[in-house]
Amino acid sequence: MFPKPTEPTVDEPLTPAGTGCPACGAATVFTYRLVDYRGWLRVTKCRTCLHVVDRHRITPPAQAGVG
Ligand SMILES: [Zn+2]
Repeated sequence: MFPKPTEPTVDEPLTPAGTGCPACGAATVFTYRLVDYRGWLRVTKCRTCLHVVDRHRITPPAQAGVG
């Protein structure tokens, strides 16, 4: 029994990616980091239609004293 995966909570500031959304034509999509069960991702995503323009694994930021 595993909990259903959900969109991880975003507590990173959204950075305008400087490009428009190819799906809905929104003026700007936003880049931010998030964590899922496998680690860190950098995601570029439209906040209007939620189209994911780009996402890739990134090196985890330094963590201070986990555990
Ligand atoms: Zn869009």
